[in-house]
Amino acid sequence: MDFQKDYIEGHPASRKLYQRAVQIFPSGVTHDARFLKPFPIYVSRAQGARKWDVDGHEYIDYWMGHGSLILGHRYPDVVDALYSQLEKGTHFGACHELEVEWGKKVIDLVPSAERVRFTASGTEATLMAIRLARAYTGKKKIIRFFGHYHGWHDAVSTGIFPPFDLPDSAGIPEQFLKTTIALPPDDPKLLEDLLEKEQDVAAVILEPSGGFSGSFPLTTEYLKTLRELTDQTGVVLIFDEVVTGFRYAPGGAQEYHGVKPDLSCFAKILAGGLPGGAVAGKREIMAYLDLKEDAEWNRKKRILHPGTFNANPLSAASGLATLKIIEQGEVIPKANQNAHDIRYTLNRVINRHGINWCAHGENSIVHILMNHSCPKQDTCDRGLCTYDYRRIYHKDPLLLTSFRDAMLTHGVDSVGDHWWISWVHSGDLIDKTADAFDQTITTLKSRLSDRFENQ
Ligand code: PMP
Repeated sequence: MDFQKDYIEGHPASRKLYQRAVQIFPSGVTHDARFLKPFPIYVSRAQGARKWDVDGHEYIDYWMGHGSLILGHRYPDVVDALYSQLEKGTHFGACHELEVEWGKKVIDLVPSAERVRFTASGTEATLMAIRLARAYTGKKKIIRFFGHYHGWHDAVSTGIFPPFDLPDSAGIPEQFLKTTIALPPDDPKLLEDLLEKEQDVAAVILEPSGGFSGSFPLTTEYLKTLRELTDQTGVVLIFDEVVTGFRYAPGGAQEYHGVKPDLSCFAKILAGGLPGGAVAGKREIMAYLDLKEDAEWNRKKRILHPGTFNANPLSAASGLATLKIIEQGEVIPKANQNAHDIRYTLNRVINRHGINWCAHGENSIVHILMNHSCPKQDTCDRGLCTYDYRRIYHKDPLLLTSFRDAMLTHGVDSVGDHWWISWVHSGDLIDKTADAFDQTITTLKSRLSDRFENQ
């Protein structure tokens, strides 16, 4: 297509690899979000805030390992820890010292963590937390919020995308869907009413940043209200801190907002760019993972938890090295400052173009709202405006894809309207990003003018 011609002409080697990939993988990709029309880039190397593709292009990277690399690619302490572990072995099929240190670090950093269990991913962590809540309360249902993402297992695969009326995946039995109740993310009264009349609720799970990594941010007051409502009704409050953990504060969103959940789920930064997840929380709930002498307990009451790659030594090495650096206190403020500077700079470009867009976000995440301006845009560091979550989650796929293609053509790779900022995204990288953004908007305005709403 014409508006993608620069992208297609500029990436012949990626195009070739994609032609092979479609013969191997459904739609040619190994993660839905990496799917891109007309084809994705293939990356061969990364360092700091940059990465290079097989066509030799350099990019400023705003994927940052899907948000797991707040230190940037190949941070020396993490690389050293990995090499050192590689020399000793990658999997002992046994307990090992690093897992103990890694687990202790999580307990030291996270306010509500009395016990922790490692999993292999964030999806597994939310799966485990929900099971724990059910086992602990003896109840079945869970409440979740529209537009909050918790991985892709059955219990959380409904209510993710607008219009929020169907499960967001096929293959989930209908009777199973009845155990998940999805509510609007901005109405605690609805939750209060529901908790009053529905006696079979085991847990409320949410992203404490607000849905999709803070696309629709939440207030501390809202989180406090959820804490009170769940305390009053004996429902387990689960914070999905896969994104916010070790990013919003060393102790995650619960430290940042001063609200303690019963259980928390972690992944991403937890393992410093390698696979890994965890559930942490109250001892009395985590005790449902305990193996006891009592065979009846083991078979009927406890949560089964195997998993070949739980706390694998390489993830433990990179995770521990990462958390130790975060603990020193410099990383998070720097990443936050970089994100603030990026939002500010992008909003200036948006204003120059006179388009109805906005860069917003909290802490070290940047979201781009397309055709949805924000009244506080100039100083927007949260995006807590009066906008409507249904509109935010309702995206224009053509505009978004074209935006990604054009940004790539100008040397910036991002998940699209959703950018992960590290402590190394500073200085001239921000200026280069602003130039790419400026050129991208110019290109899009000329090629897709009907996709821009007037300001
Ligand atoms: N919860 C949240 C808030 C997430 O953002 C994600 C992944 N982006 C997950 C859970 C699932 O984690 P994973 O991809 O490691 O399974």
